Formats: sequence, structure tokens, C-alpha cells
Amino acid sequence: MMENGIYDLLIIGSGPAGMGAAIYAVRAGLKAAVIDRSPVSGGQVLSTYEVDNYLGLPGLSGGDLADRFREHADRLGAAFIAADVKRIERGAGQQIVYTVHTDKSVFQTRTVILATGASHSMLGVPGEKELSGMGVSYCATCDGAFYRNSAVAVVGGGDVAVEDAIFLAGICKKVYLIHRRDQLRAAGSLQKRLLSLENVEVLWNSEVKEIIGKEMVEGIDICDNKSGGRYRLDVEGVFIAVGIVPDTDIFRNLVKVDEKGYVIADETCVTSEKGIFAAGDIRKKAMRQIITAVADGANAVHSAHAFLTAEKL
Ligand code: NDP
Repeated sequence: MMENGIYDLLIIGSGPAGMGAAIYAVRAGLKAAVIDRSPVSGGQVLSTYEVDNYLGLPGLSGGDLADRFREHADRLGAAFIAADVKRIERGAGQQIVYTVHTDKSVFQTRTVILATGASHSMLGVPGEKELSGMGVSYCATCDGAFYRNSAVAVVGGGDVAVEDAIFLAGICKKVYLIHRRDQLRAAGSLQKRLLSLENVEVLWNSEVKEIIGKEMVEGIDICDNKSGGRYRLDVEGVFIAVGIVPDTDIFRNLVKVDEKGYVIADETCVTSEKGIFAAGDIRKKAMRQIITAVADGANAVHSAHAFLTAEKL
């Protein structure tokens, strides 16, 4: 069903980038709405245990920070639509109008901000898919409580892996952090906290070759990269935090993306397609943080507003 009226701006995604865009769009006086398939706003922030680097709000849980974002947007009167965007088409006429098809309705808009964020990467080893949900998890804050007093492993060396290991150390008897190199990628302050925890052991230069278990995870086959030696580590849970992939599949025909699928756009968030802007983790950039995603949201609205004004739309 086609909804009546043409929006100035539709924002797809309600993570930090989408929420940042929402409040700037309201303040710019645009007829705008945020579309997200999840009724709960927040994106990846929702699965973050503690956020300690968002300016002015230290130590909040990811869930609380996401609630604050939503409360702020609601207070300013931002509009939200719960729907799953399936595709976006550019109209054939002279004036730029995009048609956004969702699982519920069809919307028309003059500009779009893509802010769909990213999802976790897979490790790609035998046993991972088979035991997913049966001891293999990608969200420590969601599933950590199942492993009270157990031994678990976290795979990865970035911010997420180290945050997950710190969180799990408060619940589990033993946490192994398995990293393929001899240096972590995570922020220094997180590394310091991690290495001070008595029940955390970092297995350096170590790669997971297989996740073992019949119905539930029983252990991991590990290869020591230096010696080439293999051994089995008994754990009941494996938390995989080996990076992210951008959720840009449905936009790849619309805007230019790089070889990894990130949308090519600079700080102005202007993409290869007129009237389409990209904000947050889906954009090709050096630093993917909550604060940089929020900033992208503001920049994207600034660019969309300038575009609408220049095109007299
Ligand atoms: P990252 O890309 O930062 O780290 C991924 C880690 O996984 C790296 O240590 C990498 O190893 C390792 N890895 C990748 N592939 C494999 C593999 N096949 N086998 C074994 N290890 C592998 O991803 P994160 O998910 O940690 O973080 C994603 C983004 O979100 C980052 O930009 C991060 O900074 C950001 N973030 C921001 C937060 C905030 O703003 N508060 C909080 C949490 C995350 P190697 O180091 O060898 O490449």
C-alpha cells in the first residue's frame, strides 16, 4: 500500500547514526521519519555491556544509552515507522523522488539516509554454524548469564572481544580470550582492565580451528600459530567477536560500495547517488564508534538539507 504524501527525508536504521539524524532532521524542520525493522531502537549499542567513551555519559550500559537516544528523539517529536525496508527505487521523473518498499507499506521521499549499521562476522570454522545458539554466541550481554560459573572462550582482539571478556569475567569461572596475534587491537584502557582480571587468560597467537560438540559446545580445537601445535580446550561457551560486516546488501545496486560492502562517502555522507546519504558503520571510514556514528547522522542531515534547498525540492 502506498502511503500518502512525500517525505523530505527517510532515515533507514535507528542505531546511533539514525538517531543522531532523527534529532537533526526534526530541528531542521524536515518532514522526516526513521524506519527500522526492530521496534527497539539502538542497533549494535543494545548488545554493548558498558559504554565508557560516549562524551558526557560515562559508564552507561548500551541499553540505557539507547534508551536515552530514543527518549531524546521522542521528546523532540521524531517520527518512527516499524518496518523492514526491502528495496529503494529512484523515480523516472525530472524531480528526484525515491520509492522505499517495506514489508508493510510503500513510502515516497526526496532524500534517504542509509544508516543500517553492521552485523557480526562469522569465524568460518567447522562447528560454528552447527552449534550456533547451542554454546556459540555473538552477544555476550545477551547470552552470558547462561554460563554462570562455567569456562568460556571469547575469540577476537578488538574492542568488542575485550569488552565481552571483561563482562563475562564477572559471571563465568574462567574466560579464555583467544587472539590470532600477539597484540590486541582494542583500546588501551580496555586492555588494562582485561589484563588485571584474575580469571581471564589470553591465549596469544592462537587460532580456533574447530568448535567441538555433539549437541552443545564441549570444547575448541586450537592451533598455536608459533609452534603449529594443536590442542583441545574444554569450554561450554564460545563468544565470537571477530569484527563486523556492513548491512548494505539491499543498497548495493543503488550506491557505490567498496570491496567489503561499505558505502563510499566522505564526512559529508554524500554517496554516488543524488539525494542518498550514508551515515554510521555502513560508511567507509577509519573509526567506527558510537560518537562518530552520531556525528555522521548530523552531517548527513546537513547534506540532505543543503541538497533539498539547492534542488528547490
Ligand atoms: P574489530 O574489527 O575492531 O576487531 C576484530 C578482531 O577480530 C580483531 O582483533 C581481528 O584480529 C579479529 N579477527 C578478525 N577475523 C578473524 C578471524 N577470522 N579469526 C580470528 N580473529 C579474527 O571489530 P570489533 O567487532 O571488535 O569492533 C567493530 C567496530 O566497533 C570497531 O571499529 C570498534 O572500535 C567499534 N566499537 C566501538 C565501541 C564504542 O564506540 N564504544 C564499542 C565497541 C566496538 P586482528 O587484530 O589480528 O586483525
